[in-house]
Amino acid sequence: MKKRFTDSAYFDDLPVYDGNDLGAVYTRERTAFKLWAPTASKVMLNLYENGDGGSLIETIAMAAGEKGTWFCEKSGDLDKVYYTYSITVGKQTREAADLYARAAGVNGDRGMVIDLAATDPEGFEKDVRPALENTTDAVIYEIHVRDLSSDTSSGISNVGKFLGFTEKGTKNSDGLATGLDHIKDLGVTHIQILPSFDYATVDETRLDEPQFNWGYDPKNYNVPEGSYSTDPYHGEVRVKEMKQMIQTLHANGIRVNMDVVFNHTYDIEGSWFQKTVPDYYYRKTVDGYSDASGCGNETASERAMMRKYIVDSVVYWAKEYHIDGFRFDLMAVHDIDTMNAIRAALNEIDPTIMVYGEGWTAGEAAIPSSKQALKHNMAKMEGVGAFSDDIRDAIKGNVFDALDKGFVNGKTGMEERIKFSIAGAVPHPQIAKNEKDIKSWAASPSQSINYISCHDNLTFWDKLAISNADDSEETRIKMNKLGSAILLTSQGVPFFQAGEEMLRSKPSDKSDTGYDENSYRSPDSTNSIKWDDKAKAIDTYEYYKGLIAFRKAHKALRMTTATDIQNNLKFITPPAPNIVAYTISNKPNNETAEKLMLIFNANRTAVNIPLPPGTWQIYINATTAGTTPIATASGTVSVEAISAMALVQQ
Ligand code: CA
Repeated sequence: MKKRFTDSAYFDDLPVYDGNDLGAVYTRERTAFKLWAPTASKVMLNLYENGDGGSLIETIAMAAGEKGTWFCEKSGDLDKVYYTYSITVGKQTREAADLYARAAGVNGDRGMVIDLAATDPEGFEKDVRPALENTTDAVIYEIHVRDLSSDTSSGISNVGKFLGFTEKGTKNSDGLATGLDHIKDLGVTHIQILPSFDYATVDETRLDEPQFNWGYDPKNYNVPEGSYSTDPYHGEVRVKEMKQMIQTLHANGIRVNMDVVFNHTYDIEGSWFQKTVPDYYYRKTVDGYSDASGCGNETASERAMMRKYIVDSVVYWAKEYHIDGFRFDLMAVHDIDTMNAIRAALNEIDPTIMVYGEGWTAGEAAIPSSKQALKHNMAKMEGVGAFSDDIRDAIKGNVFDALDKGFVNGKTGMEERIKFSIAGAVPHPQIAKNEKDIKSWAASPSQSINYISCHDNLTFWDKLAISNADDSEETRIKMNKLGSAILLTSQGVPFFQAGEEMLRSKPSDKSDTGYDENSYRSPDSTNSIKWDDKAKAIDTYEYYKGLIAFRKAHKALRMTTATDIQNNLKFITPPAPNIVAYTISNKPNNETAEKLMLIFNANRTAVNIPLPPGTWQIYINATTAGTTPIATASGTVSVEAISAMALVQQ
């Protein structure tokens, strides 16, 4: 027997299967099962009546086929029959769900044969992705399926379910819109749902008890999470209900991106990967398993069948569920070639499907950094984006230091970082290049996913509460507005955590600060969106809504090339520190206005800014944002303390 090495060399000798028929291929007359398990000496297919319990129908020996596959065919209508494989490798036989299972029983312990066409909600064949011309037209709203509806103030009846997104006309105690109506009114183009494939940590048999998890612990990559369905015991229900969610959002003009977590599995020994082809899907070091995910393991995207698995999975979600984009958790655990293969495969379906992720890891990866999908390697991944931790930390301070401040909340010397962020992380001649930490990494603005807050770390509002505890709530609201104005006018793709527009807070009595900065398994009381906070934050809500509308009205804020930004976006030398101002001229990207001017004043006093010649109309100021002019100005304009201003010349 061949010695097993810890690196890829041993596995390089394994046959690679490139067919598209892995899994259970269903027809009414027969179902064909195919599994890639080249190191196995024997594979048995187990058919079950139910997704759990002792309901074995039959066990069938599978035949060894081409390129490491195992195959069998069973005649008859197997729709809703549950199944597993018993895979013998060496002296060990282990039972595993199918890596390619499209449905599963409760807690995802068994796959289920499924007639996918029968799960399509009525009219799903006519479902189309809402229009999106360029990636930079996207405005992404990050939301956890459960958080939308888990507070009673949501008025949503499908609490914690995919179907919560399908309810219209829901209102909070003050009669203000919640849920779908709120998201639609806000004007975002995309929602990004936290992991919604089947994950391990919420027990689907105990849904009457309080449970919560973000879901970064994958179990079945091609199956929706059972706890988000109204019935996790019947595998077809979650499939249909997730489709209903997407269909409804599409019908309301909102695209749906999904957070995907291919970089690790919940554990190693319990994972279907490990039970199917031991050690193939994980990277190892001489000491054991490599852990770039910080969760105990990392997958090996550079191996042919892991890369194929990721590509097949996203293609499946895009085609079967009409998912509009994929956010890769710890994307830099993956290799560059894999990200490019994903992009290429999705381009075949629809090039407007988004691909982006975290351009970092949570630990050292067992592949060289030159091969990792790191933020600083983005130039090698056209059509793939990365989160800009630069703008995140420049606006409000470092996420790893709660007391650290940024441009909007009182740190000085942040101008170059803000300029860098405004320019979408592409090279720009007016941005100091020699300053530490300022190094362009985006080849095009579509690669820069700009954000202030996401599910990780403190919410924007909680960060300000800690870093600026001595400031009044009124002042902190000004800081929040200034930050959001920078975010939503910057080049690139704006992204924000759901509820940021309502000063979302994640209170915690377990934290020293009173706020939860890692709420991955905190209760609903911490994580839920408190819709009854909308009335008191309505002013901030309207401001975000107005900023989004202003962004949508001006294509110059959504330029698609670095060259356009370099040629047309000109920074102005401000009269005092802690001010960033610029103009955009020459109608780039089919802009209709002659000229735009943006001014961000982080000082605690008003400043007078000289304007270029001509009359200007003001659309954004300290309190208001939108597409209706607020006032006109010429000569100089006074910009209030801690505020933004946008002016347009027609
Ligand atoms: Ca689950």
